[in-house]
Amino acid sequence: MIKKVCVVGAGTMGNGIAHVFALHSFTVYLLDINTDQLKAGIENIHKNLHRQRLKGSISEIEEKNAIDHLFPTTEASIAFQNADLVVEAVSENLKIKQTVFHQADQLCPSDVILASNTSSISILELARGLTRPENVIGMHFMNPVPLMPLVEVIKTKHTSSFTLDTVLRTCEIIGKTAVPSNDFPGFVANRILMPMLNEAIITLEDGVAGVQEIDDIMRLGMAHQMGPLLLADFIGLDVCHAILEVMQKGLNSRKYQPANLLSRLVKEGKLGKKTGEGFYSYSSMKEIPPAPKSFDLST
Ligand code: NAD
Repeated sequence: MIKKVCVVGAGTMGNGIAHVFALHSFTVYLLDINTDQLKAGIENIHKNLHRQRLKGSISEIEEKNAIDHLFPTTEASIAFQNADLVVEAVSENLKIKQTVFHQADQLCPSDVILASNTSSISILELARGLTRPENVIGMHFMNPVPLMPLVEVIKTKHTSSFTLDTVLRTCEIIGKTAVPSNDFPGFVANRILMPMLNEAIITLEDGVAGVQEIDDIMRLGMAHQMGPLLLADFIGLDVCHAILEVMQKGLNSRKYQPANLLSRLVKEGKLGKKTGEGFYSYSSMKEIPPAPKSFDLST
């Protein structure tokens, strides 16, 4: 039974994952190598919990209980030695993730489950060279984690049924619906989503319509909750770029080649909401198109 979770990476996804586990009374070690990111991640969790309380979706006791279950740290040994489950949510880069997995493999208790929140990288690659590949699995949460019900669960040929069953049960406890997918680049979610976001960027580049118009057409015409350019900003343009590159290489198709405009914005450090600018500017909230009720743009 999972009681203690180590979430590695306190960025967009890591702080959302830590939020959800803490809210469900798991002891959560939130680990990041960057103290500023760790601080920002914890502040974000506090802000989002508080907002949930003001909206009446959680009580004051639940808010306090969640905060009491959170332990931010930059010390890998403390976080890993105590974990029953590790959920890795560091940058979408194979080498960085492999380093984290090897470190976890060395420091964690023998029965730990090692999960990755990767959007596109092979889970089998992440399990390679570890002493316990049967304990490795993909847990692909969706953004924003506290609001989105899905976890795409990816098993490899080595993943044991115990690991899979424990992860499915854990998803249920935290109120998420787990849906299994096989270990292909981008799995299901991003193999379908990313080409659409990339095509929206090419549509903008080609001058077919402006940012707002492209998003309005897809929201109002296709009943999407968010336009593709706003969604790309929310995911992080660097993350979209990295996912497309993994799919382009892994699926060996130019179909997934990142749009030139996407590459340019990433080079310029305009990564979307997290840096304050992407397709929209987040310093002026007026420029952001209306979002559905389930997405609070001020998070
Ligand atoms: P992010 O850039 O917001 O955060 C990454 C964090 O990892 C940073 O805080 C960084 O300091 C930290 N980090 C980097 N190396 C580390 C290390 N060795 N040890 C500890 N911390 C380290 O990224 P994100 O958007 O949260 O994405 C994280 C993962 O989740 C990626 O694999 C991404 O593909 C996946 N994902 C992202 C989204 C999304 O919408 N952004 C959705 C689903 C899955």
